[in-house]
Amino acid sequence: CGIVGYVGRESRCVEVLLEGLRHLEYRGYDSAGLALQRSGRIERVRRVGHLENLERAVRGRNGDYARVTTGVGHTRWATHGRPSEENAHPHLGGSGAVAVVHNGIIENFAALRSELEDRGVRFASETDTEVVAHLLEERVLSGASLREALAGILPRLEGTFAIAAISREEPGRIVAARHQSPLVIGLGEGESFLASAIPALLGQTRRFLLVENGEVAELTAGAARLFGPDGAPVEREVFEVDWDA
Ligand code: GLU
Repeated sequence: CGIVGYVGRESRCVEVLLEGLRHLEYRGYDSAGLALQRSGRIERVRRVGHLENLERAVRGRNGDYARVTTGVGHTRWATHGRPSEENAHPHLGGSGAVAVVHNGIIENFAALRSELEDRGVRFASETDTEVVAHLLEERVLSGASLREALAGILPRLEGTFAIAAISREEPGRIVAARHQSPLVIGLGEGESFLASAIPALLGQTRRFLLVENGEVAELTAGAARLFGPDGAPVEREVFEVDWDA
C-alpha cells in the first residue's frame, strides 16, 4: 500500500526506509518489509502485523546493515493472497537477483503467472506482484540492465501500479515506474529517494520530481533520471515543496 526507496549514504538507508514507512502507515497495512543490497546479495526482512515488528527485526541486526546504501521498503494492504510473511513484499525472482515492491493490482497476473510456470518458474507467494519479480529477473539474467528490463516488461502489465526494484547485479541503483498509482522521487545531496507520497520524504528533502504514467525512473546516489516509454531521457522540472505534512 506504500513504497519507499533510498540510495545514498552508508548508515542512513535503513533509517530513511523505516521512517518513510512510518509516514505511510495511515494508508493502512497488514505487513511490511525491506529489501537491502548487501555484499553482492539482496537481503530481505519481512514481518506480518505492526511496523514495530519489522523495526524490531531490523534493529536486531543493526550492525549488519550499517554499510547498506541501497534498499526498498513496503507496507502491504493485501489484494491477492492473504496477509502472511510469504506474501509480504519485497518479492524476489527465483534466484534472488531482483527484488520488487508494488502498490496496486496487476490485473493480468494470472495469465502472466501461468506463462512463467510453463517456462518452469516456481512461485513463492500467492500475490499478483510476484510475476513482476520473475519477469524482471528473466531479463536481467539474460543480460538486460534493470532499467531496460523494467521498460521491457511495462507493456505487459495491466492494472494500476507503482513498482520499485533493485538488482543484485547493479549496486547503488533503484528503478521504478507507475501506472495510475502515485510515485514521487526526492532529491538529496548525494542521496536519492522515492515514495508513493510526498509526506513520507519531507523529513529528508523538499525537492521532488513527479513521475508520469509509463515513465521509467532510475535513481543513484548522485542523480535521478527519467526516461519515456521509448527510452529517451525526459527533462522534468524540480518541484519544491513548501508545505508541511
Ligand atoms: N496487490 C499487491 C498484493 O496484494 C499489492 C497490494 C498493496 O498495494 O499493498 O500484494
